[in-house]
Amino acid sequence: MKIHNQEHQRNGFLHPAGHESGEDAADGKVVLQVDSKWNNIHLFLVCVSLGVTLVMLLDGCRSSDSWVLLGSSGLPIWDWTAVSVVLLFTGLQGVLYYLPVGQVTEGKMGFNGKRLKYKLNGLYAFLVSVVLLLGLWFCGVLRASGVTDRLFALVTAGMSVALMLSLALYLCPVTTHSSAHVYYHNTAKPLLNFALGQNLDPRLGEIDVKQFVMVRIGFIGWALMDLNYLLSAVEMNSLSVSLLLVTVFQLIYILDFLIDEASVLTTKEFTEEPIGFIMILGEFIWIPFFSSLPVYFLLQRPNHIHVLSAVPICLMFGIGFLIYYLSNEQKDGFRRNPNDPAYASLRTIQSPSGHSLLASGWFGWVRHPNYFGDILMMFAWCFPCGFTSVLPYLPALQCFNLLRRRASEIEDSCLKKHGNAWQEYCRRVPYKLLPYVY
Ligand code: NDP
Repeated sequence: MKIHNQEHQRNGFLHPAGHESGEDAADGKVVLQVDSKWNNIHLFLVCVSLGVTLVMLLDGCRSSDSWVLLGSSGLPIWDWTAVSVVLLFTGLQGVLYYLPVGQVTEGKMGFNGKRLKYKLNGLYAFLVSVVLLLGLWFCGVLRASGVTDRLFALVTAGMSVALMLSLALYLCPVTTHSSAHVYYHNTAKPLLNFALGQNLDPRLGEIDVKQFVMVRIGFIGWALMDLNYLLSAVEMNSLSVSLLLVTVFQLIYILDFLIDEASVLTTKEFTEEPIGFIMILGEFIWIPFFSSLPVYFLLQRPNHIHVLSAVPICLMFGIGFLIYYLSNEQKDGFRRNPNDPAYASLRTIQSPSGHSLLASGWFGWVRHPNYFGDILMMFAWCFPCGFTSVLPYLPALQCFNLLRRRASEIEDSCLKKHGNAWQEYCRRVPYKLLPYVY
């Protein structure tokens, strides 16, 4: 998807578009004109297939036959308790958003010329949610395997709540002056408005909907599913080193994301893309249930690994985490304050955009070291699942494909933004992910 007035983006500032780039003269609302490659058939298929595919994959985990994608579980697909659980979880995250702790930070420039403010208390929301889950479990109010037995119903409940939220945004678009309204050129407009969204940064009260679904629903939901599987394994007396390892790896990844919640505010999804059904559905079902698939797989098909084989897996995760963390720290720190003495020894390339590019350190090794670290971690949490099925590897394979495509997209926009400086950078650092390989 391409936003026409992308060239107006400077230093994180998205200027209000003028007539040419689409200001609605009648009421002064900012209108972004967007070309989308998606048509009705694509949209329909994605909306329908996301949930169906997920249930099939989860079902496949339950069969012990090798390489089987579809098992035969007989688990209920609809259950009002599951709907209540998803509604309660969503409501709880909404309430926790208002917790008077954590920083309030300024993000990108709104279309009214004022910076949008974001509350960064995702970590506290996560901690409260985890304490609540564990508390309910220790008190015997919650039976984790009861939740696991309702897995498919939770997915369909997640789909329903996502649908309700998306319909609400579609029917009552929140068009504040800080948030641009999106206009699609395509003929599939009504469906595009619903599926891809018609607003860049909708807010419900204080809640920024995009931040809410990405951080609170997606990532906290993922962590709670992991913990629920872990507790289910304890209840079933089937806790294994491999399940523990994968859960700990994923929790470290999620915690790191929540500690540095502000980093999400500079991503492409956050700054450039509108929010609609597909993004909301992804956060309600794909992130919590698909990302935790390796843990669910191990719950269904325990794989006992020797402590000695855990060592190289931990090393792989540790190295991936360090590369991911340190490279992101270096790039983010440098972007915040390029004059910091900590970066004085690094070689840089001056860009006409006013931002310098790092050409040594992590970003002198390859052009996307953070993506490389990310991919290492994703594969490290697959290996404890063994090699009997492709299922637990699917999230890592999807992530690999996504990051490979994303690297190309980011490079296209960096070329536009930094021009010759980016070309010079690519000449000096010729590899994207792995030196001499790719
Ligand atoms: P990056 O964090 O890599 O940010 C890209 C931006 O960084 C560029 O647009 C450019 O910004 C700046 N930049 C790039 N190269 C240089 C350089 N040499 N010197 C200085 N600045 C540079 O990408 P994302 O925002 O996509 O990702 C953020 C994190 O989220 C990553 O760690 C990624 O792994 C993770 N992620 C994980 C996903 C998953 O599915 N696991 C999906 C998406 C993200 P500018 O043009 O403003 O200078």
